[in-house]
Amino acid sequence: PVIPEDQVEIVEGCRLPVLRKNQEHEDEWPLAEILSVKEVSGRKLYYVHYIDFNKRLDEWVTSDRLDMKKLQFPKKEAKTPTKNGLPGSRPSSPEREVKRKVETVPLATQVSPATPVPSLPSSNGTARRLIPAQPGRKRKANCGGTDEDSQDSSDGIPSAPRMTGSLVSDRSHDDIVTRMKNIECIELGRHRLKPWYFSPYPQELTTLPILYLCEFCLKYLKSLKCLQRHLTKCNLRHPPGNEIYRKGTISFFEIDGRKNKTYSQNLCLLAKCFLDHKTLYYDTDPFLFYVMTEYDSKGFHIVGYFSKEKESTEDYNVACILTLPPYQRRGYGKLLIEFSYELSKVEGKTGTPEKPLSDLGLLSYRSYWSQTILEILMDLKPDNGERPQITINEISEITSVKKEDVISTLQYLNLINYYKGQYILTLSEDIVEGHERAMQKRHLRIDPKCLHFTPKDWSKRGKW
Ligand SMILES: [Zn+2]
Repeated sequence: PVIPEDQVEIVEGCRLPVLRKNQEHEDEWPLAEILSVKEVSGRKLYYVHYIDFNKRLDEWVTSDRLDMKKLQFPKKEAKTPTKNGLPGSRPSSPEREVKRKVETVPLATQVSPATPVPSLPSSNGTARRLIPAQPGRKRKANCGGTDEDSQDSSDGIPSAPRMTGSLVSDRSHDDIVTRMKNIECIELGRHRLKPWYFSPYPQELTTLPILYLCEFCLKYLKSLKCLQRHLTKCNLRHPPGNEIYRKGTISFFEIDGRKNKTYSQNLCLLAKCFLDHKTLYYDTDPFLFYVMTEYDSKGFHIVGYFSKEKESTEDYNVACILTLPPYQRRGYGKLLIEFSYELSKVEGKTGTPEKPLSDLGLLSYRSYWSQTILEILMDLKPDNGERPQITINEISEITSVKKEDVISTLQYLNLINYYKGQYILTLSEDIVEGHERAMQKRHLRIDPKCLHFTPKDWSKRGKW
């Protein structure tokens, strides 16, 4: 149908070039999709996703950044086929539909409005579901009542969805609400963090310019005043749980998702702001959380964490892993990974991270695996003047890196050659030099002597 020109309106699903600055701070006009439209003090704002760019670059833009001449209207048919393989159709007026969802629907519905809640494979075969927020639960005090209420599930009434340490593949990618980042800014200790992705914090907090977190217990508060009031009562200066590693200013704390549920859930909410490829579920009980901190006179400040299933049937030694943005690109990510393999070594097992990995996660793992394997290969001494020999299994046993990951890394580095009937690994000068340069930059290392960790056999323990 032909739409008269004065009625042309940009709605969700429209595509058009949008002005943005690239890394060199130059203007560029990549094609973007409009995910949402809102009006703030009479001015329209458009939430755009740049096609072929990572979602973390999605943002609200004003109309002067839109190239209206190249506007493409949404196609009637949805791109993604439904379960039975037939294309589903989008609602005829997506704009109104989305607005309603954003404004009035309670949190849990918002997390997955129309699609069935995807199931998490669990040992007893039942799917874990998000527990809805309590929309009717009004709080008396401005700061959300006592410290014992909202984020404490001990009363059995959670006011935020429960989540696990595992974040399973996100199948709700077409869900407009969860595709949009909903928290503007988080203040965590001396850092201000700009979230990259949606996180299911309570709806009423998503309109705040800044969400305040207690950097030690991770409780979320709606104002600086509330935070200050909280800090007079909160005496934590480190994550809960046991400190199982300390060297210099770096410590690791082990937190049981069952014993410290509130902390674990708050950690998952914070982490979700920076992890997109997975979805959160309610139950933290089956997970351990390893939080890395850096110490100063004010306390142990969270740098990053990873979660791990207490029992994994698939050799997973990491479920979710995150270095908080202020600490990224400084070697902390690799330190988290190294720590996860040190735990596996103590357990006498090989391990692998749960898939899928994020783009940044895969880069860190690739680099960790490469350096770890090259370290071993370069340490090999000639055997009676013969070429040194090592098997894939031996590499895997020494490093606790799962065999498949050893093989994929050797292939990625292109070290494997077939020569006169056998496989040989060839280390070129480029590889050796590159490795030596990389290792000189790797100042942060885990010292196994500083790890005080006894693995527990969770299968022998009662679930409760
Ligand atoms: Zn606190």
